[in-house]
Amino acid sequence: MGVNTAVKTVFIEKLILPFLDRFFRFEKDVLKYPQAIRFGPDSSKRFNIPLEAMKRVQRGEGFVNRRFPAQFMLSILRNMRKSVRSLARNPPAPLRIASKEFLQELDSYAKSLGVSHVGFTKIGPKHVFQDMAVLYENAIVLAMEMDKDRIDKAPSYETMAMIMGTYDKLGIAANKIAHYLRKQGFGAHACHPLGGMALYPPLGQMSGFGFHGRHGLIITPEFGPRIRLTAVFTSIENLPSQKKNEHGWIREYCETCLQCVKKCPVNAILDTPIPHESGKMTYTDRTKCFPYFTENFGCSVCIRVCPFSEGNYAQIKNAFIS
Ligand code: SF4
Ligand code: SF4
Repeated sequence: MGVNTAVKTVFIEKLILPFLDRFFRFEKDVLKYPQAIRFGPDSSKRFNIPLEAMKRVQRGEGFVNRRFPAQFMLSILRNMRKSVRSLARNPPAPLRIASKEFLQELDSYAKSLGVSHVGFTKIGPKHVFQDMAVLYENAIVLAMEMDKDRIDKAPSYETMAMIMGTYDKLGIAANKIAHYLRKQGFGAHACHPLGGMALYPPLGQMSGFGFHGRHGLIITPEFGPRIRLTAVFTSIENLPSQKKNEHGWIREYCETCLQCVKKCPVNAILDTPIPHESGKMTYTDRTKCFPYFTENFGCSVCIRVCPFSEGNYAQIKNAFIS
């Protein structure tokens, strides 16, 4: 084992893995809150990307011998912990109704933090991960754009560093938004975009940001699938939730495109869906994707090749529907 690898292994074994172990036990505390929205019988099991990736590194697999943007990982871990610890600072009797002006201010504040989309919906138990809970059913859903030039280089260190940087920036933004809500008397539970307590793509779709593509990611008109998602759950009950989603045509378009299916380096995106362990059907075979993903800087080829990543939603829609 080289010095570099030994240092990384010690860093992972002494710092990252014990941290994650403590954190995963700590985040289950949300289950103790009586008003929390708990997982349901058909909830998905969360796939812990940081934990599973670190385990691969520990086994000498994955990116142990490659460059890894560790600076973002430390900040991500700090903000994951902050998202749960800060729950103790929620007001004991949080306000439940927000004015239109406040929601406009909230939107502007989120955008000032680099958030590209702010939407609203309500979460039910089936979108909460197994053995987890979120504090409120009212969801403020957030998306942040991922840089196109770096996505165009996928898979590469530059792409991975940008993605980790986006996770970090969005996690920081979610915590700041939770703090902003608490200062105004509202309850808030920020979830980190890396991991989190709930399935974000359905929340993004229910908020009207876009529609899920064959690769399982939300395709938005502005950036296609070049976004990361997260959510802040809040006591605000009168959030203007989206009633309709106008992007359902994407499902049929994917049947004619299949670029992500053809270009995935390990054929992990399938022609026909397979059952996920929760019983849900999915087109992505994680057992094929994840090893390649960890060995190749988080891959992201399926994002790069998706035609919507060019930001030409209207052109694609017009050509497809006419
Ligand atoms: S991340 Fe890479 S390996 Fe995984 S599904 Fe996308 S293209 Fe395939
Ligand atoms: S690459 Fe094509 S098939 Fe895959 S998600 Fe994008 S539009 Fe759909």
